[in-house]
Amino acid sequence: MTGLLINGAVRDSAGARTFPNINPATEQSIGSAPDADLSDLDAAVAAARRAFDDTDWSRDHDFRAHCLRQLHEGLCAEQERLRDVLVMEAGVPVALTHSIWLDTILDSVLYWADLATSYPYEVQLTARQTLAAVTSTRTVVREPVGVVAAITPWNYPLPLNIFKVAAALAAGCTVVLKPAPDTPWSGTELGRIILERTDIPAGVVNVVTAADPLIGAALVADPRIDMVTFTGSTEVGKRIMAAAADNVTRVCLELGGKSANIVLDDADLPALAADIAGVCAHAGQGCALTTRLLLPRHRYDEGIAVARAAFEQLRCGDPTDPAVVVGPVINARQRDRILRMIDVGKQEARLLVGGGTPESLPVGYYVEPTLFCDVGPDAVIAQQEIFGPVLAIIPYEDDDHAVQIANNSIYGLSAAVHSKDTDRAMGIARRLRTGTVGVNGGVWLAADTPFGGYKQSGLGRELGIDGFAEFLETKSIALPC
Ligand code: NAD
Repeated sequence: MTGLLINGAVRDSAGARTFPNINPATEQSIGSAPDADLSDLDAAVAAARRAFDDTDWSRDHDFRAHCLRQLHEGLCAEQERLRDVLVMEAGVPVALTHSIWLDTILDSVLYWADLATSYPYEVQLTARQTLAAVTSTRTVVREPVGVVAAITPWNYPLPLNIFKVAAALAAGCTVVLKPAPDTPWSGTELGRIILERTDIPAGVVNVVTAADPLIGAALVADPRIDMVTFTGSTEVGKRIMAAAADNVTRVCLELGGKSANIVLDDADLPALAADIAGVCAHAGQGCALTTRLLLPRHRYDEGIAVARAAFEQLRCGDPTDPAVVVGPVINARQRDRILRMIDVGKQEARLLVGGGTPESLPVGYYVEPTLFCDVGPDAVIAQQEIFGPVLAIIPYEDDDHAVQIANNSIYGLSAAVHSKDTDRAMGIARRLRTGTVGVNGGVWLAADTPFGGYKQSGLGRELGIDGFAEFLETKSIALPC
């Protein structure tokens, strides 16, 4: 069952139109998804508006926590089906679904279930003379922002759908979820589970799939939407921000990245092989992957040798093979874009490994794990997001130079620092203009840890209390005393 979820019913699009869902490993259709038109979108937004304005959903914290616990149970019960969907429609290697692509993120729903009731929605300020010389008590009330449009990308589809929907529901919002056209079932399956396995009332969550990105644009422009939470490219994020300005709609944007992995000169380089090759997981389609490797000049050759050996061991292949971690990229357009960027790289840097499509895989949108060294900090492949299995190695002279190179980017999503001296690495981490930093292999992705970007990597935060608060408005009520 892969229908739109609108006002508590799974159904076809109004015009009964569909679009194919293509498996990137086989280039074959695995089925279809409903192709919503503007009338479907209108019905979804109207249902979300009604559910917010005319029901107790936004005020009944206990009920919301109950529904989110049901959602967690439902997701766990359907985990194997969701795994199949991720492998088939997104080309996520099955090995990765046992980690942050599926298995380890499901419990995050319980974090929001707890927050739904434990968050301090009201804070009483002590009575005092206000600026107008009237002594008053003040109650600061945090209320759900309203109807949320959640727009998601294809690279990390199910976790992002879950993060956005669960956090918005916990806060008391209602939602219209618009998944990416390349991964529609990660949205429709979530809608079906909500319908079949939870008491979440009709209209509280609506799922609208469409082939045309203009449906997303119409959703953002709808004056009944109170907030847009978007994850995707910086280019589309800018368009969304501009469109949201017309109605002064709140936006939370999680955008692109070009993150640096800084190896300090005292680091245990051979021990970093797996970390370095990790940029090719899911064919490098991760916004926060550290796609620039910064090596100290006097250990440059040693670092290159470690990276080269790690890359030479990587094999792309069928995502259903449990030994594979580098699957296909999502579609032919992305593959061709990545190959064009690799061609640019060949002009401006030294190619060490890969650089094309694997001959052994004539079918499927595969790109070889590709390693460049001698990359200048301002080179195109050091500045632009490639979103494929491509790593650029950049030499640096000293710690200040490494920080300068790392910060020399329009993006500021993530970074990594490695050193035997933890204090030194932490000092570097504090100087980086990025929303997250992993020091010596530390992992920041967790339900309670705010995630998001500086600069053109975004606006606002997802996850953690900060991410939850994005879905809240603040009201101050004063009473004379
Ligand atoms: P995209 O920006 O092309 O599309 C994302 C979503 O926006 C899709 O659902 C798409 O249909 C929709 N959309 C497209 N045009 C729109 C418009 N004008 N108005 C409203 N919606 C519109 O991104 P993508 O190619 O699906 O995903 C890859 C990008 O996502 C990369 O740049 C990556 O870095 C970024 N990303 C960021 C994060 C993060 O948390 N920062 C996480 C994952 C991916």
